[in-house]
Amino acid sequence: MTTYDTIVIGAGMSGVTAARMLDDAGADVIVLEARDRVGGRMHTDRAAGFPVDRGASWVHGIDDSPLWDLVQALGIPTLEYTVGSFQAGGRPIENFDGEGRAMDPASTSQWVADVEQADRLLAEEITRSSPGDTYLDVTERALDRSGLEPERIDEVREFFRHRVEEQCGAWVGDLDAHGLDEDAIDGDEVIFPRGYDELPRRIAAGLDIRLGHVVTRIERTDRGVTVSTRNGEFSARNALVTVPLGVLKAESIEFAPPLPDAVGGPIARLGMGVFNKVFIQFPERFWREDSYVLRALGEAGEHWHSWYDVSAVSGIPTLLTFAAGPFGRRMQDLSDEEVVADVVSALRFLYPDAVGDPTAHWITRWGQDEFSNGSYSHLAVGSSHHDHDELAGPVDAVLHFAGEATWGDEPATVGAAYYSGHRAAERILGRSIDLAEFAAGITARERTPAS
Ligand SMILES: Cc1cc2nc3c(=O)[nH]c(=O)nc-3n(C[C@H](O)[C@H](O)[C@H](O)COP(=O)(O)OP(=O)(O)OC[C@H]3O[C@@H](n4cnc5c(N)ncnc54)[C@H](O)[C@@H]3O)c2cc1C
Repeated sequence: MTTYDTIVIGAGMSGVTAARMLDDAGADVIVLEARDRVGGRMHTDRAAGFPVDRGASWVHGIDDSPLWDLVQALGIPTLEYTVGSFQAGGRPIENFDGEGRAMDPASTSQWVADVEQADRLLAEEITRSSPGDTYLDVTERALDRSGLEPERIDEVREFFRHRVEEQCGAWVGDLDAHGLDEDAIDGDEVIFPRGYDELPRRIAAGLDIRLGHVVTRIERTDRGVTVSTRNGEFSARNALVTVPLGVLKAESIEFAPPLPDAVGGPIARLGMGVFNKVFIQFPERFWREDSYVLRALGEAGEHWHSWYDVSAVSGIPTLLTFAAGPFGRRMQDLSDEEVVADVVSALRFLYPDAVGDPTAHWITRWGQDEFSNGSYSHLAVGSSHHDHDELAGPVDAVLHFAGEATWGDEPATVGAAYYSGHRAAERILGRSIDLAEFAAGITARERTPAS
């Protein structure tokens, strides 16, 4: 049996980044990927003739972002879309009050001011929170101090709850008070009109990636690792595990010997949230041309609340809405027809007589995907930011971990996956790797015809 230098498990953004860096350094690397495609939670569906990003869509904040540097170095086109982090204002948003009535500019400004005021108080409450406090605890304390009228408090409360659901895929009462500390967005946000999975695909080009290889067991000794798949065994001097936290939590991979507490503890403590997408196309646009988002506040938006206009990607009137947290889990058990009917009825409440019958839809169910078991990680009550980075290992110098859940600075993002793959490659090689050279290597290879 060939003994590789490194076996990378998972061909998502973190796995292909690390594998490409190790390969560039001359290491003998193989990537074992369970799915029949590269990209993992970056998944662009092109079956309809235009791209639909079923996983990640946004770069959240392009200022001082090495991820954005990479996108630019590869010349990947983007569209500005700066409301991807559940902002209340900043870009044109069509807001509807708790009874479904369109809000005028004055009430919209008041609403944005309410959120900003409550957010300032919330930041103070988070700073003075105690271990074990949930995001719900600190939210309620901030709202108690806000002095807002009860109806306006209800709308801000609902907004905070939805923000946690979208950013973390979790219920606000399950998230640690510090669970959104790393959520600052610097600069504009962008989406990808050619589909976001172009990025991992181009990084992966030319690597030895074995698709359809589901890893079931990883045995380690002082000398290296043996990785078992449903298609046979592979051995190497070391392994890099990049499967999602949900897969580690489900124990679908057996580690022999079992993982020590230093890594097993974070796996148990961190949470894996659910965040699902519903894209719906309509025969005609019934919202304003310049609107980034249509948003129902308070009771009107209890379930479906925010619809993002992504028509620019396909040229067809298209809204993207989300179902996250407990609602996102429940939605997964509904049929597509039930989901679409529910979304359309919520829209018809806001735009009576204007909403035509949908012409197409796409619905994700990431919580039921056995190779993800959820959408992204979050700081569940009882966990800490250190848990993310502790999860990276290494274990016995031969077993490393990467992936969004292993990066404490901005977990749950493509950036986290990229940076954690970079860190793992540096640790395995025992030297630093320059990101600009990495990007230049990808474009240089693309210019050189394969021999
Ligand atoms: C719906 C959704 C929307 C998102 N939106 C954004 C966004 O707008 N912006 C953003 O920055 N981030 C977003 N994210 C998060 C982002 O997609 C992830 O953080 C990132 O892609 C994770 O990369 P990764 O390499 O850590 O994991 P993954 O991409 O999940 O890669 C892990 C790989 O391991 C493979 N695998 C699993 N089990 C096995 C096994 N047993 N054997 C072999 N292989 C296995 C998987 O198939 C997968 O390919 C979103 C995620 C979801 C689900």
